[in-house]
Order: sequence, then structure tokens, then C-alpha cells
Amino acid sequence: MAQGHMIPAVDMARLLADGGATISFITTPINAARIRPIIDRIHNSALPIRFIELRFPSAEAAENLLKPFVEALPLLCPQLESYLQQSSTPKPDCIIADNWHYWTVEVARKFGIPRLVFHGQSCFSIYCSTVLRRRKMLDEIEDDFQVFELPEMPEKIEVMKAQVWTIGPLSLYNKHVEDRASRGKPSSIDGGVLLQWLNGKTSNSVILVSFGSISRNAFPQIIEIGYALEASKIPFIWVVKETDKWMSEFEERTRLTGLVIRGWAPQSVILSHEAVGGFMTHCGWNSTLEAIAAGVPMVTWPRFGDQFLNERMVVDVLKVGVAVGVKLPPTKVVMAAGEKGLRVVRREEVEEAVRKLMGRGEEAEERRKRVREFGVMASKAMEDGGSSFHNLKDLINFAASHST
Ligand code: UDP
Repeated sequence: MAQGHMIPAVDMARLLADGGATISFITTPINAARIRPIIDRIHNSALPIRFIELRFPSAEAAENLLKPFVEALPLLCPQLESYLQQSSTPKPDCIIADNWHYWTVEVARKFGIPRLVFHGQSCFSIYCSTVLRRRKMLDEIEDDFQVFELPEMPEKIEVMKAQVWTIGPLSLYNKHVEDRASRGKPSSIDGGVLLQWLNGKTSNSVILVSFGSISRNAFPQIIEIGYALEASKIPFIWVVKETDKWMSEFEERTRLTGLVIRGWAPQSVILSHEAVGGFMTHCGWNSTLEAIAAGVPMVTWPRFGDQFLNERMVVDVLKVGVAVGVKLPPTKVVMAAGEKGLRVVRREEVEEAVRKLMGRGEEAEERRKRVREFGVMASKAMEDGGSSFHNLKDLINFAASHST
């Protein structure tokens, strides 16, 4: 559906196929078109992955993460059932469904196939949401803007490590630059031009600025970000989905220090380049994990959903980020400000966060050191013998042993 769900799902499919599983990756035609580069790459590889396209029985334009679409998801149910009933379909040992596809539980039950849920979010944010839901805390709090503390788990909850298959960071499955470049949509910048630009910069000097695949900045906010980057004189790559004349002029003025990518950037390629020493991010969980896996500290600028909890994880728990200081989703800012409407994060605030992150002071060096250590731990998890390696094997064995 959204790139933030499909990209790691494709990585997971490749990881599982590499581990000995045969995969049928089920999606819809429009979503398949969005990940065409990686599908083509997989077709040219020896990995046993087939892509099955189920026609969405509604307006095709709605085949992405939009509210009506989410409500219409169960409409895919008959298509999946008839696919599973075809004589040419090998009976799956296991269905792994994205957490939005809750309806697959009924299909799995009907066909007697074990079903696992793939959560693209962090365990930390799932934990927090679970505590909130279980204690019905949000029902009790009337004021949207009241600050409250997350409590500890009240009951004794017994689980086994073996019941949770944490695998990944999935982005690290992509060891070669071509693999990283083919994640998600086709890149809007020529790979050679990008690498040449990055190769010309000293190590850890560049900040990448990107807010994921869904979030958009209001125009007054874009201007503040632009002036902050310009004033900081720190080399930057800025990925913008918005177009404007102001942006063209900005690009012209800053062409010595900056690179503006309009559209889709090969984010994993950029983050793993040694010239990149910082990432201004909306704290989408994929972006957060990709930065940690690449050992890159972050300026955090959450927008909605789990992103505010991911920020707390990055800034307070892991201590590898500098918060730009937003306290509320943009829609709530408008609500809180009433008539006054949008309040942007001012250029001075943006510049201060960028300077703090990219600076050479003790605090910045400590942050850098910590995130690099986490990056090494992440790579170790994915190597032979690492935790992800073991959990993946365990997952495949689980599916095989429950096969009927
Ligand atoms: N991404 C990318 N290029 C872009 C924008 C996004 O490669 O120009 C990728 C990014 O690397 C990540 C995913 O798209 O893998 C975005 O997922 P995330 O969970 O960070 O945020 P969302 O887009 O779902 O808000």
C-alpha cells in the first residue's frame, strides 16, 4: 500500500526467499507498478518470489493509503480466496499479512493456514499503544492537549521471546548500491550524478533532509527550512515533493553547497554514503531504522501516527537525535492556534537543530559515536549467527512445522 509498508515487505520477502522459503507476494496492479524496479530486479535473480496481482474491485486510483481505501480493503477478500482455490496455486504454509490487512484472519482460518502479522512499526510504539488501549486511557482524557505520562504495564503479562519474531533491520538486506537504489519508486536523480556529488564531499559533512513518502510541508514551512539550510552553510541534500518558483531560485542560489532532489530519492543509498553525517526526518519508522542502521544521527520532526513516539525513542531512549521542537501534528497546531492558523517552525529553530546535530562539540560527537555503535549492532543482527538470522530461521521452521 504505502511505500513505508511495501518497501520493507519486499525486503522481507527477499530475506525469507534467501532463507529457503518460496514466496508469493500478493499486491494490486497499481501498487506493483510503484515497486516495478525491484520486481524487475527480482525477476532477473534466482530468488523464488512470484508477484501475484489481485485486481482491486474499486476505483484503481484509490489503491494506496487513503481512508476510503483502508475501509475498502476487505473487498480484496474474494479475490484472495479465489486465488487460493485455483488448482495452480500451491497451498501456502503461512500467510504474512501487513497489519492493515486484518481481514486476512478469516481467509487464513477458512483455509487452515497459519497467519502472521507484519508490523512495520517499532515494538516500542506498539507497546505504548497497547498499554494505552488496554487501560482505555485515551477514553478518559478529554483534552487533546493535556500532557500525561505513559504508565508501566499494570498486569503480569507472560510472553516468550520465541513468540515474537523480530527480524531486520530489513533495509540491511540490500548490500549493494543497485539493490538500495531499486527500493521504492524509480529515483528522480541519476545515480551517477548523485554519487559524484556525494563523493566530492568530506566524510560526515552532509545533512539529508527528507520527510518520507506521504508527508508534505506547507509552503511557508518550506521557506523556513530553505533559509535555515542556506544560513547554516552545511552541505545538504533536500528531497522535495512540492514544486514552486521559490524552490528553483533557492536551488540556483545554493548550488555550491546543496543538492535538491525533486520527487523520489534513493534514501538508503544516500544514508549509507560516508559523506552523510545527519538526517532531518519525519521519524517514519523505516526512515528511522534506515538512519540507525547506517549510523546516521537525526534531527527529528514528527508529523503524525507513531512518529512522535519514534522521536521519543530516538531522542530520549537511544539519544541519537536532536528534536526540532514540534509538539503537535500540523492539523492539531491549526486547531490549537484557532483563528491564527498554521504556526511554522521558524528558520532559527531549524538552523539551531541542524547546527547542534552537525557540530563538532562533545555532545554531537557522543551522539555520533552512539548511533555508529547501534549501526554496528544492527549489521551484526542481520549477519549469519545474529539475532535476525536466528529469528528468521525460526520463523521459516515455524511455517514448515505447521504445514498441513
Ligand atoms: N523513501 C525513499 N525516497 C523518498 C522518500 C521515501 O526511498 O524520496 C523511502 C524511505 O527510505 C523509506 C520509505 O520510503 O523506506 C518511507 O517510509 P517511512 O516509514 O520512513 O515513512 P512514510 O513514507 O511511511 O511516512
